Amino acid sequence: MEYVESLIDLVGNTPLLRLSRTTDGAKPLILAKVEYLNPGGSVKDRIAVKMIEAAEREGKLRPGGTIVEPTSGNTGVGLAMVAQARGYRCVFVCPDKVSEDKRNVLAAYGAEVVVCPTAVEPEHPDSYYSTSDRLVREIDGAWKPDQYSNPNNPLSHYESTGPEIWAQTEGRITHFVTGIGTGGTISGTGRFLKEVSGGRVQVIGADPSGSVYSGGDGRPYLVEGVGEDFWPANYDKSVCDRVIEVSDADSFAMTRRLAREEALLVGGSAGMAAAAAIRLGHELDDPDAVIVVLLPDSGRGYLTKVFSDAWLTRYGFAPRPGNDVRVVGDV
Ligand code: PMP
Repeated sequence: MEYVESLIDLVGNTPLLRLSRTTDGAKPLILAKVEYLNPGGSVKDRIAVKMIEAAEREGKLRPGGTIVEPTSGNTGVGLAMVAQARGYRCVFVCPDKVSEDKRNVLAAYGAEVVVCPTAVEPEHPDSYYSTSDRLVREIDGAWKPDQYSNPNNPLSHYESTGPEIWAQTEGRITHFVTGIGTGGTISGTGRFLKEVSGGRVQVIGADPSGSVYSGGDGRPYLVEGVGEDFWPANYDKSVCDRVIEVSDADSFAMTRRLAREEALLVGGSAGMAAAAAIRLGHELDDPDAVIVVLLPDSGRGYLTKVFSDAWLTRYGFAPRPGNDVRVVGDV
């Protein structure tokens, strides 16, 4: 019989899928690392396992302890999944702009969700940041992973994502492309690939227009999970050879094309990374290049956003020919 004891054993070892239709004739092989196939549905399962196991080893998280993190998305799901398997309580703090659907997913895993007002300064006692810090102080046995500065975030990618890609491509990868949020994925995976290839692999960040990584001033963009208005400790600038800036319009158009043309239902940050990888593929014009692009999560969480014509139109992005979604009743 072939089975695993715990869902946690299913984290990682995600496949590479060759992109074919969306590449528009680009010469390099462009391979997508499909991270929504992790059991919690995103790349963040990897960091959740690593951060929790390290905290247990270091005595920061003890039996019956509570995990407190300001997160509303994939990291919360990963942490909640591991916490449930190990018997920890989870309290997630999120701003009130976060959709009810997302809060419900966390609650469904058994996590408690504390909602804070979005329209207050970070220093305000009710802000998302102040509230999570207060809960850590008040709850006995509380531990805050802090994915922005926890070194186990990039380390999980150095130990899993990087080696997987190297083995799967038999060392033939020439370029690695990924979005940058906390910087964990690019810093850990990129560092491993640089080291193992003697510096040959080029590491390329994909970034929404407006974010600091591509020289922006933090002006708003709509793609979720990537881009920042500050420089997190987990972003190692020295690993990144280049940042490709992608507009919201191009990210969303590619997200839809991936669903329609490759049957890859992925989120907007995956569309953004794929758009950057395909642009790079055309630029390189080299049939021997092997580009690996990481697709962080599933499109299921964005059905009322990127995949809604009404939502796109409301934000000024007309669905492009061949990409339009007509949902009956979607007005
Ligand atoms: N895409 C999505 C949907 C994410 O949630 C994240 C994590 N914030 C990223 C991309 C970026 O990954 P990282 O934090 O490792 O830079």
